[in-house]
Amino acid sequence: AAKQAGRDSYRFYDEALSNELRQRMMLEQQLRLAIQHETGLGLELYLQPKVNIIDRALVGAEVLLRWQHPEKGMISPGEFIPLAEESRLIVALDRWVFSQSCALLQQWQTLLPGLPRLSVNLSARQLQEPDLVDWCLHTIALYGLEAQQLELEVTETAFINLADDVLRQLASLRAAGFSLALDDFGTGYSSLTYLRRLPLDVVKIDRSFVADLCTDARAATLLKGMIQLLSELEFGVVAEGIETDEQARLLQGIGCKTGQGFLFYRPMPASEFMQLYGKSCSAGN
Ligand code: C2E
Ligand code: MG
Ligand code: MG
Ligand code: MG
Repeated sequence: AAKQAGRDSYRFYDEALSNELRQRMMLEQQLRLAIQHETGLGLELYLQPKVNIIDRALVGAEVLLRWQHPEKGMISPGEFIPLAEESRLIVALDRWVFSQSCALLQQWQTLLPGLPRLSVNLSARQLQEPDLVDWCLHTIALYGLEAQQLELEVTETAFINLADDVLRQLASLRAAGFSLALDDFGTGYSSLTYLRRLPLDVVKIDRSFVADLCTDARAATLLKGMIQLLSELEFGVVAEGIETDEQARLLQGIGCKTGQGFLFYRPMPASEFMQLYGKSCSAGN
């Protein structure tokens, strides 16, 4: 009997596990189909404006992927990006986002001049693809764009390998004119090493530092020091996750000029961003 019970609980465990595995494999397969399909099958680009903290003028926008799943509703990238990162699917997924972002820029630049730069997130895994630079250049040429119109954000926590070929790849992207941003700065294991070794234009300070800014004196001191350090190193600085007026005011006080967060704008569908940008142009700012 004991043997039987053991077998049953094993089977139960086994079934639960394989159910979860089956779910994940199904999601992965659906993602794969979505990026192959013309309409994206529920995948959609959202844009979150970056603003000048002082006058709130639009200075750029970050492209954030959304997935309106046919049965499960909206699935957040926090869920499906890690899933895609477990396989090489992330490479194709990021390239899909990059191409779609180029298509938006192409559409818009015929309507409005002087569009702000779009920032696209790249998985660290992308940096290990030997054809990355050629692919990016080929793609912008296809859409008639300049590299300067795009910024590439690489997340610090995603472990950026400092191998020579990865550094060379980043340097070529930058030399080609793409702006390079280090995302979620301050949360990784080797933040300072990254600052020293990676060719970068912009550093985005992780929102955990901003969240504690008003309540934690130590967080405020750290943030102030970070902004000073980054400015002396001549990096552009963006503070992420600004949610309150008080945070914005304190950030402004310690010399941070650019920000992104729910206080200003939430991520929005591309068409909404376009309307917003059109209005800000006709309002003359
Ligand atoms: P991230 O690149 O650091 O993007 C910022 C995240 O913070 C976004 O979450 C955004 O919606 C959220 N956020 C912005 N302002 C605020 C705020 O004031 N408060 C709070 N609490 N959150 C704020 P989202 O869109 O869920 O994306 C999560 C992460 O998924 C991104 O973090 C990025 O690492 C990844 N991701 C999104 N799209 C892509 C993509 O196309 N490719 C890759 N590789 N990763 C992506
Ligand atoms: Mg980002
Ligand atoms: Mg991130
Ligand atoms: Mg971030």
